[in-house]
Formats: sequence, C-alpha cells, structure tokens
Amino acid sequence: MKILDGVHLIGSGNTGLGISNDYDCHIYLLDGGNEMAIIDAGGGRETGRILENAKNDGIDIKKITRVFLSHSHSDHAAGAKNMLDLLDAEILAPSGETKIIETADEKALGLDVARGEGRFYPPDYIFPPCPVDVKLEHEDRFQIGEYEIQAISVPGHTLDTMCFYTEVDDEHYGKKRVLFSSDVVFFQGLISLLNCQGSSLSAYREGIKNLRGLNIDTLLPGHFTFCINGGQAQIDQALAAFKEMSVPPCAF
Ligand SMILES: [Zn+2]
Repeated sequence: MKILDGVHLIGSGNTGLGISNDYDCHIYLLDGGNEMAIIDAGGGRETGRILENAKNDGIDIKKITRVFLSHSHSDHAAGAKNMLDLLDAEILAPSGETKIIETADEKALGLDVARGEGRFYPPDYIFPPCPVDVKLEHEDRFQIGEYEIQAISVPGHTLDTMCFYTEVDDEHYGKKRVLFSSDVVFFQGLISLLNCQGSSLSAYREGIKNLRGLNIDTLLPGHFTFCINGGQAQIDQALAAFKEMSVPPCAF
C-alpha cells in the first residue's frame, strides 16, 4: 500500500497490518522511478506474498535493484535468500552483522532464545543463510532512481542496526524527511532492548544519539504504528528516556 509518493508498505505481519506472513516485520519499498529498493526482507516464509503486494501497488518488481537489511534478526533478514532468488537485486547489510547473515549463526541471531513452543518463532523456524553483496557502513549513501538513501548505524538493539534516511516530495503531503527506523525506535519513543546476544543498553544509549536533530517527519519503524508527520517527536521521546536512570520503555 502506498504511504507517500515513492514509499510503499509491501509486507507486514502480526505486529502490524497483517498483509503478509505473520513473521514478517514491516517491509517497505522505495520507488525511485527507474530503480527501486526494498527495506528489509521479512521472515522468509512467504516472500512471494510480499512481491505480490508490490505488484498490486503497480510496482514493476524487475526494477528492484537493491534489498537493504536493517539488521540480522529473522523477521527482517531471513527472507533475504528468497529475495535474492526471486529478484535481480543485490543484498546490502550492516557490516557488523554480515557474517551472521551469511552463516545464519543461530546464537548471534538470537534464534536460540526466540524459537520454541510459545515463543516468538515456531520450533521449525529456520534462517536460510544468504550471501551479502554490500557491507553497509555508517553514513553510506546510495542513489535509488530519483531518491538518495543514507544508512545511519545505531547499535544497541543489535550490534550494528541500520536506520535509513531519505527525502521524498509527496503531491498531497509535501516534502517529507523520512526515517526507516527498523527496531531502533518505534511510535511513542518505544525501543527494543533484548535479553539476548548482540543487544546492549550501553551501546543503545550512545548509538541513538545518531538520530538527534534529524527533523524527521515520517517515521517508518519495523513494527507497529507509523506516522507521516511528527516523527522526530517520537524519536525525541526515546532520546529523553535514555537520559533517565531507568531503562526506557520497550516495545519488545
Ligand atoms: Zn530486531
């Protein structure tokens, strides 16, 4: 579904709109005209449904040249191998988590604690390892047709979670500063600090400072509600919470 001119939501599981497999995070598509990019690959159980949603929005999936992974968690990256097989696109992933994605290291993925009866992932859940074409570094920039997208590393949720920043000009809503914030910050300033390998409160406290002063309008997180306007106010709630002595409120 179209969120803004050039920005579509093409996948979302049971922590969102339920338009694709339950285990998918929000999956966004940036349509730069002659080139397009997907932000996050979903959980990999029904990748075809995600691409069908894109087609339903009038997207020519042959123009998708890049799949950006925000981090290695299964609901964001386990679908990367299927995307690689189904699309003529390269896979880009945070340099700090490339090895985890390429080897499907279950401990580093947190799958050893997240999978099982009554847990986040069912007992038969697997993460297909996927080769990564481009290792993303903080502030790397890429041209996607008419749009530029910039990687912003925010360690804390995982070792090297990347947010992605872009600017679009919507015919109805006007110019928007857009942040794909992954699992770093959600609506109302919630964060996701996990009790598993890779997640770190001290890294989060420092990393989230990279989102200060960006004047974000449109906040597009990896789960739950998103907003067209007022995005920086959500981020600023998280920044303020990190200044307290207690742990900020967590979405997960
Ligand atoms: Zn995550």
